[in-house]
Amino acid sequence: MERVYNFSAGPCALPEPVLLKAQKELLNYNNTGMSVMEMSHRSKDYMAIIESTEQLFRELMQVPDNYKVLFLQGGASSQFAMVPLNLMSRNKKADYVNTGVWSDKAIKEASRYGSVKVVASSKDQTFNYIPKLDPASFTPDADYFHITTNNTIYGTRFNELPDTGSVTLVGDMSSDILSKYYDVRKFGLIYAGAQKNMGAAGVCVVVVREDLLGNALEFTPSMMNYKNHADNGSMFNTPPTYGIYICKLVYEWLKEQGGVDAIAAINIEKARVLYEFIDNSSLFSGTAATEDRSIMNVPFITKDHALDDQFLKDAAASGFVNLKGHRTTGGMRASIYNATSLETVQKLVDFMKQFEQAHV
Ligand SMILES: *Cc1c(COP(=O)(O)O)cnc(C)c1O
Repeated sequence: MERVYNFSAGPCALPEPVLLKAQKELLNYNNTGMSVMEMSHRSKDYMAIIESTEQLFRELMQVPDNYKVLFLQGGASSQFAMVPLNLMSRNKKADYVNTGVWSDKAIKEASRYGSVKVVASSKDQTFNYIPKLDPASFTPDADYFHITTNNTIYGTRFNELPDTGSVTLVGDMSSDILSKYYDVRKFGLIYAGAQKNMGAAGVCVVVVREDLLGNALEFTPSMMNYKNHADNGSMFNTPPTYGIYICKLVYEWLKEQGGVDAIAAINIEKARVLYEFIDNSSLFSGTAATEDRSIMNVPFITKDHALDDQFLKDAAASGFVNLKGHRTTGGMRASIYNATSLETVQKLVDFMKQFEQAHV
């Protein structure tokens, strides 16, 4: 069967060259006579893979030398606990902005370890906007300040990072890491599950400034302590070896595309094409506030939701799959991460146009 146009929010479409390379190397990696899956994580060949994965990531993301890059397991969801366990050590206080289901989960988890202040929330309108922040409401002696840079479910993103002064900024960047330039120096810690913009599920990348290591709460399990992973080059235990290898292939592919700035230009154009059609449509409309719209996840509905099911059905029949919105929002959502080409987005727009003409 032909490959489909896959708009899944995650795990999601990977660049085809990445899958083909993995296929080519599946049985015999670099003349070792074995698969990457079958290698010791401490073998020379595997060490070369993880080192080059980290190197490529550092280069793409321009990670300064005083930051560690960790390849962990447990998904972004484990970071909801690891962040407070490791950083909530001085004053046991943290500020959070609540911009969706993921922030909400992060807040609940952090509240188990210290005092959490939600400085702003967009819950009142189903998280369809990014709330305005008032620095006067920030906790001056917070151990850190947490945001979700891109809200996968609601299709919003921070256009501007909050100015937290001397308070460490922490970002859940799961759904927009490497989609556009971020100045790592503005953050003390960044985390991102791999399955949206970087690879397969099973790897979570953490970028953490070195001075933040070594102060974990006393009861922190060793596997949850960043320092143990940092001191052991992400080999405190067996890392997700194959998932890291897939990240390496994705980073190589991204570098071939010209890196983050080049892909960002394409991402902006993809989002523009799709939003422009939706904004001018008599049938479809977007659900996120215009000024806060994500360039990665585009939620939309048909008028009064009347034709949502029909649209999803017809779209799937034409090879446009995984367009159903999150179960908490309904409607549709097109996730157009790095691996989705402009051509694929144009094909989707053409299909939506046809659907619209047939139904108005
Ligand atoms: C998907 C996602 C998560 C959860 O990731 P898991 O790997 O399933 O734990 C957290 N935050 C954001 C922003 C996400 O998009």
